[in-house]
Amino acid sequence: MKVADGFIFTEHGLIRGHAVHENGVTELFEGPSKDVPDLYGVIVPSLIDAHTHCADAGVRPKPGMSLEELVAPPDGLKHVYLRNTPRDRLVGDMRSFGSQARANGIATFVDFREGGAEGCRMAREACPDAVILGRPISPEFDPNEIDDILSVADGIALSSLKDIDLSYAERIADRTHRAGKTFALHVSERVREDIDTVLALEPSFVVHMVEATDPDLRKCADSDVPIAVCPRSNRYFGKAPPLKRMMDIGNTVAMGTDNAMLCSPDLRPEADLFSQILGEGTKEYTWIWECMCAGGRKLLYRSRGIIAQNEKEMAFAVLPLEGDRPECAWTDSGPVIPFRNDPECSP
Ligand SMILES: [Zn+2]
Repeated sequence: MKVADGFIFTEHGLIRGHAVHENGVTELFEGPSKDVPDLYGVIVPSLIDAHTHCADAGVRPKPGMSLEELVAPPDGLKHVYLRNTPRDRLVGDMRSFGSQARANGIATFVDFREGGAEGCRMAREACPDAVILGRPISPEFDPNEIDDILSVADGIALSSLKDIDLSYAERIADRTHRAGKTFALHVSERVREDIDTVLALEPSFVVHMVEATDPDLRKCADSDVPIAVCPRSNRYFGKAPPLKRMMDIGNTVAMGTDNAMLCSPDLRPEADLFSQILGEGTKEYTWIWECMCAGGRKLLYRSRGIIAQNEKEMAFAVLPLEGDRPECAWTDSGPVIPFRNDPECSP
């Protein structure tokens, strides 16, 4: 028997509670444990990292590189790296990324996988439980390539509409929808993109929306399209997602960690940066926990054909708190617990 004591994330916020894990079953109870706990922390449904690029860990960005120089296809540094690095090395990097994610309470991550069908095969081999959204290599629409990707991946995710031809994106989105799989893309990361054009592609979710206007965000909320945000990655490029506006407008927001070369697969530093951007307050605090613990799950429910595969993964994680019994301030809606305070990206 293992006992975790601390706080439980519930739909009503964090409550004092404990979990008992025995014979493969975890039970949750209100109030402190009478047994001496093995772990102390916040008990949450196992987390979902809503946006990653898991093969990038070995890329070494030079200081001061722009977003375009680093990640824009086809000749940004990371794409040159992915083309020129041996398969074994990439699979190994993806595998260690998966182990790190698990150690941080992440049951699954949603990977925008470059490298066409072969990139997806590598990711599937390294991280069988990951949600893999592949990206075609061919500059022209190639239905055979799309079908090949979809035979191994959960769907297709594109770079940005700024980088590609719209009719190419439309044909890919259409073929992905017809296969009943997930279609997603980066939107308004560097510059604002037209949200009506994006939503016409019927994405399951969008990533970033850093440069989005209020009407753009409202249209996402009205269309029930979740947003995966990655504030550590944005900060590396001197930007910040408009979290306050997303919160006030009522967007469904999930946390992602983006490029593995910049950020570890850990949602706690993302949550910490959320609180720096939003400032303190019960409403803000509750929302951050919700984005961290429930946002990724909502995003997967919205995506086609994914959740059934990952339902077996729905267990609990305990996010340990620093120190033995950390200081917790109580508010009307529950305890205020510090997120881990190491939000820096490490290139
Ligand atoms: Zn990305």
